[in-house]
Amino acid sequence: MSYGYSGNILHVNLSTGKTWVEHPKEDFYRTYWGGRALALYYMLNRMKPHTDPLSPDNLLIFAPGVLTGTPAPAMPRYTVCAKSPLTGAQGEAEAGGWWGPELKKAGFDAIIIKGSSSTPVYLYIKDGKIEIKEATHIWGKNTGTTQKIIREELADDKIRIAQIGPAGENLVRFANIVNELEHFNGRNGLGAVMGSKKLKAIAVRGTKPIELYNKERISQIAKEITKRVMKNSLSRGLRELGTPGVVRGFYEAGCLPSYNWTTGYFKEGENLTAETYNQTILKGTKGCYACPIRCKRVVEIDESDLKVDPSYGGPEYETIVSLGSLCGISDLKYIAKANELCNKYTMDTISTGMVIAFAMQCYEEKLLSKDDTGGIELTFGNKEALLVIIEKIAYREGLGDLLSQGSYLAAQKIGKGAEKFIHQVKRQEIPMHDPRLKTGVGLQYALSDYGADHMKAAHDPFFKDQDSVGIKGMKGLGILEPVSPTDIGEKKVALFKLLDIYWTVFDILGVCDFGYVPRSVGTMNELLNIICAATGWKTTWFELMKLGERSINMARVFNYREGFTSEDDTLPEVFYHNFKGGPLDGQGAINKEDFQKALKLRYQMMGWNPDTGIPTSVKLLELGLDWLIDEVK
Ligand code: SF4
Repeated sequence: MSYGYSGNILHVNLSTGKTWVEHPKEDFYRTYWGGRALALYYMLNRMKPHTDPLSPDNLLIFAPGVLTGTPAPAMPRYTVCAKSPLTGAQGEAEAGGWWGPELKKAGFDAIIIKGSSSTPVYLYIKDGKIEIKEATHIWGKNTGTTQKIIREELADDKIRIAQIGPAGENLVRFANIVNELEHFNGRNGLGAVMGSKKLKAIAVRGTKPIELYNKERISQIAKEITKRVMKNSLSRGLRELGTPGVVRGFYEAGCLPSYNWTTGYFKEGENLTAETYNQTILKGTKGCYACPIRCKRVVEIDESDLKVDPSYGGPEYETIVSLGSLCGISDLKYIAKANELCNKYTMDTISTGMVIAFAMQCYEEKLLSKDDTGGIELTFGNKEALLVIIEKIAYREGLGDLLSQGSYLAAQKIGKGAEKFIHQVKRQEIPMHDPRLKTGVGLQYALSDYGADHMKAAHDPFFKDQDSVGIKGMKGLGILEPVSPTDIGEKKVALFKLLDIYWTVFDILGVCDFGYVPRSVGTMNELLNIICAATGWKTTWFELMKLGERSINMARVFNYREGFTSEDDTLPEVFYHNFKGGPLDGQGAINKEDFQKALKLRYQMMGWNPDTGIPTSVKLLELGLDWLIDEVK
């Protein structure tokens, strides 16, 4: 077996209680490597089309990458994949933290879970041994309590636990999975898939080192990168301000998503900035496994009427906006409390904020009444109502039951034109980045296989001029020329084809986007050297980019099999209109025709049919995916 892998893939059937270990050959690993690519291989081979996402036949796959758990900076990540109950498409979410490295040290490259238990269970994996344990006593408990009980009963406080809270158990369509209470496989409702299998948690302990080809070389590169963390403005910014660091720029420019995307102007935006955050609620910073950047926030509030437990971390940029300005709320303490509740119950904060903002607009426009809300005055800015509705969604009570289905299905049920207040792609609520000022992000929203996502590619401003870090640091991919963030022409399409594939490679390898160029301190050469030193494979960026492309094509075929077409590659209507209010009032609309042209061009650049967006047989052949050709005929 090649270095970086144990050569063991664990299969678990929760219907029968059987477990077995598969030992794929090196060629398999060199073709699919890990993460999303490995998961998609099993989803396409072992799952029938049109499987109900909440049925026992859905596969739930946990897959670290070959670099996950190496001593290099920012390599803690693992992917969870399944068919998504939110989108009905290929579902995927990556998380950092500590669980992925621990799984590797416990001797597994991935876990493939099928079936469904009749009673609640959790998996306990220790150094290659697997037990399915009874979990009735922890079913219904929040994440903090569950972690404490499992660690106590296994008498090991170093056990790493990936788990679901009540929202996952109650099949909320945007429930997520958490490890260490604060690192999330956030999007696509994969926590609901775990809940449908009655799987409360996967507790992992590994004490064996991961075999690496040249560990000393990796440690040497790690030291070099670590020395530069506080000298590099991007990584230093992440340490000092975290992801909330971008709030100020968006607020001052007038593109901070507010009041359910009716405006980008939020006059109380100063209250949400990272500077205010640091002065008022920040208790400290934290990092993931072996990461010197330490961008994660820790918040503590201990007031007589409001308490926030620091074990649940602190809100990131997306959360501050989705549970803040998007709902017309400017009180960071309430946003931190809302974040803690979502973390305890395991709900994706982007979708949670989006469904609540949608409901607030419906209430203000009189599509929902007090009878519908259970007497709650669900107006924008009502911070007490925000906390109450989060609880109701997690437990699917009253209006919370409707909202737990996601904004697309909720709008269909409400009717009366409510559809015009939702903003989604492939039924997944959009993140808190406005494509009118970053058209490449818009292309990624439209094309993402798992619904709108802001982590599908680095954002446009990193490539805006000759001095930009993307232009300076990514010449190795042939990225030489800057492109304006608002341009939607051919150069933008070509640039984002490369950026999409590049970050897809990160997802496959287990690398955090915040560790390497263009978003941070590590260079492309350092990353390549780490990959070679971990695996012993003399790989190149050419092979890696083909790997990324392979997984993108696999996801595209999976979705085609599920009935998705080019009609699903859309951008929410709001972005074809100018901003309203604030410094950008009357400007910014994306030209719909230009955007459509850009999409078609991207299909062609990817080697897909220009009209349907389906991968051609030739492209599949080129990528070694000839076994998928029959699927696209
Ligand atoms: S940069 Fe931040 S999110 Fe990424 S691995 Fe490091 S601490 Fe975790």
